[in-house]
Amino acid sequence: MEILEKYAELLVKVGVNIQKSQSLVISSPIECADFVRLVQTRAYKSGAKEVVMRWTDEKSDKITFDLADDAIFDSIPEWVKVFFNHYSDTEAAFLHIAASDPSLMKDVDPKRISRLTKARNIALEHYIDRQMSNKHVWCVASVPTLAWAKKVFPSLSDKEAMNALWNAIFKSVRADSPDPVAAWKTHGKNLQKRTDFLNKAQFKTLKYKNSLGTDLVISMPKNHIWYGGGEKSSKGYEVIANMPTEEVFTMPHKAGANGKIVASLPLNYNGNLVEKFWFVFKDGLVTDYGAEKGMETLKELLGIDEGAKRLGEVALVPYDSPISKQGILFYNTLFDENASCHFALGKAYPTCIKGGEDMDKKALAANGVNDSLIHVDFMVGTKDMEISGIKEDGTELAIFRNGNFAI
Ligand code: ZN
Ligand code: ZN
Repeated sequence: MEILEKYAELLVKVGVNIQKSQSLVISSPIECADFVRLVQTRAYKSGAKEVVMRWTDEKSDKITFDLADDAIFDSIPEWVKVFFNHYSDTEAAFLHIAASDPSLMKDVDPKRISRLTKARNIALEHYIDRQMSNKHVWCVASVPTLAWAKKVFPSLSDKEAMNALWNAIFKSVRADSPDPVAAWKTHGKNLQKRTDFLNKAQFKTLKYKNSLGTDLVISMPKNHIWYGGGEKSSKGYEVIANMPTEEVFTMPHKAGANGKIVASLPLNYNGNLVEKFWFVFKDGLVTDYGAEKGMETLKELLGIDEGAKRLGEVALVPYDSPISKQGILFYNTLFDENASCHFALGKAYPTCIKGGEDMDKKALAANGVNDSLIHVDFMVGTKDMEISGIKEDGTELAIFRNGNFAI
């Protein structure tokens, strides 16, 4: 089987794990159409009832950001909401192809971008809530586009850059192994060993320290659950929400971060790069922050709502993970977050505490689960990262030493 076919099969059979007579909604940049049609074909052959294509084009989005009437950035047309709610409520699977040009939006007014993000996330709240509680199945994966490939490999020719990025993606998602589907099963089991350990330990706090300046303590909510290597759909079958994935993750208590976090990689937020940035937390809230580049974007992000200034995810990724070993800065969160320990600002996954998927907003808040219109990962891992876990009875255990798992 050709490698592109193998990758398409991985997304359909392992990523969203399409079921007989289920609908599949694919959101993809128009540049990725050739590959995405392979996925569409594969999904039908695997029993999908219909495959609905949502083509996107960030270049025309940019024209809209630059030229459209200012009033359109505060609302989303009703039909968009109806579309997503319909497919979520009928338990379709959603596949998102993430392949944005990290520099395209750099001259766009960041206020317009954040207003539209906010309007979209308000309009799609029902859909996003269902997504974050695994009530519908979803998978995010990537396909190279020329603009993205040239940002990652600026010294290569167009053709070489595209090939290099394809190869980096194939390696990251194990599509280059003889039996990728089997390789994912083994990988999932390995990640689950770590989550089993962490779930049993039920650490009360985690302490982070490295030479970049990170010096942070986070407290964990009672009955938190670590995940890694895949989740279960509401129907009980296995799915992988991110391909690649190397992380084990859960949520910190929303009022539980104290100290400083320094980012170790740039963040591509809606086509704008934020570089060399840091946050100071007091009782879970960002009280001070800075960035060498992209300060305006960072300010917009933190200003979305109160929850955007609190943490909603803590994730552990070894410094020598297969993606990190490639030594490539992808400028794409899906890959960079799986090469580095990270946190997310904003909404937490309710599934990360026991019974969370069935709690209402009030109960979630009472249990320390952060809520926000956004969920944005940022990377903090370094080769000297030290993370310790402190249990309820005061015993301290090494979780990370020299950037890698010590458990
Ligand atoms: Zn993550
Ligand atoms: Zn995340």
